[in-house]
Amino acid sequence: MQYECMDKRFLLCKLTSVLDCIMKGKIIVSKFWTNFLSGRRAAAVTIFPFILIIDKSFRYDRVLVNHERIHLSQALELLIVPFYVWYFTEFLLHYIRIRDFKQAYLRISFEREAYRNESNLQYLKTRKFWAFTAYFNSNNV
Ligand SMILES: [Zn+2]
Repeated sequence: MQYECMDKRFLLCKLTSVLDCIMKGKIIVSKFWTNFLSGRRAAAVTIFPFILIIDKSFRYDRVLVNHERIHLSQALELLIVPFYVWYFTEFLLHYIRIRDFKQAYLRISFEREAYRNESNLQYLKTRKFWAFTAYFNSNNV
C-alpha cells in the first residue's frame, strides 16, 4: 500500500515535471530554422513545444524567452494546431486590410498579449485561460 502511494506521488511528480518542461519549452539554437520559419524577420520562433532561437546568446534573454513561453501557453490552450491556423488566419486578415507585414504581425491578438506582457516574468503564473481574447479589440495594443 505504501509503495502504491509512493508510486502515485512519483507519477504525479513526473507528470508535473513533464508539464513544467512542456510549458517552459525546449530551446533549440538554430539560425537556419529560425530564419526559415520567420522569413529572416525574428530572433526566435515558437513551434510547440520548441523555442527556436537564432543565436545562443538569446537563451539568456529572459524577456524574449518569456514572450515565446506566452506563445507556448496560447498554443497549448488551443490544442496546438488550431493555434497556428488561428495565428496565420489573423495575420492574413490584418495583412489584406493594411498591406504591411510588420503591422499585420503586431496586430495578431497572440502577439499583442505576448508583447504587452513579455517584460512581466511572473505573467505566466497569473495568466488567465484564453487571455489572448482580451486582445481582439484593436484599441488594446
Ligand atoms: Zn511573438
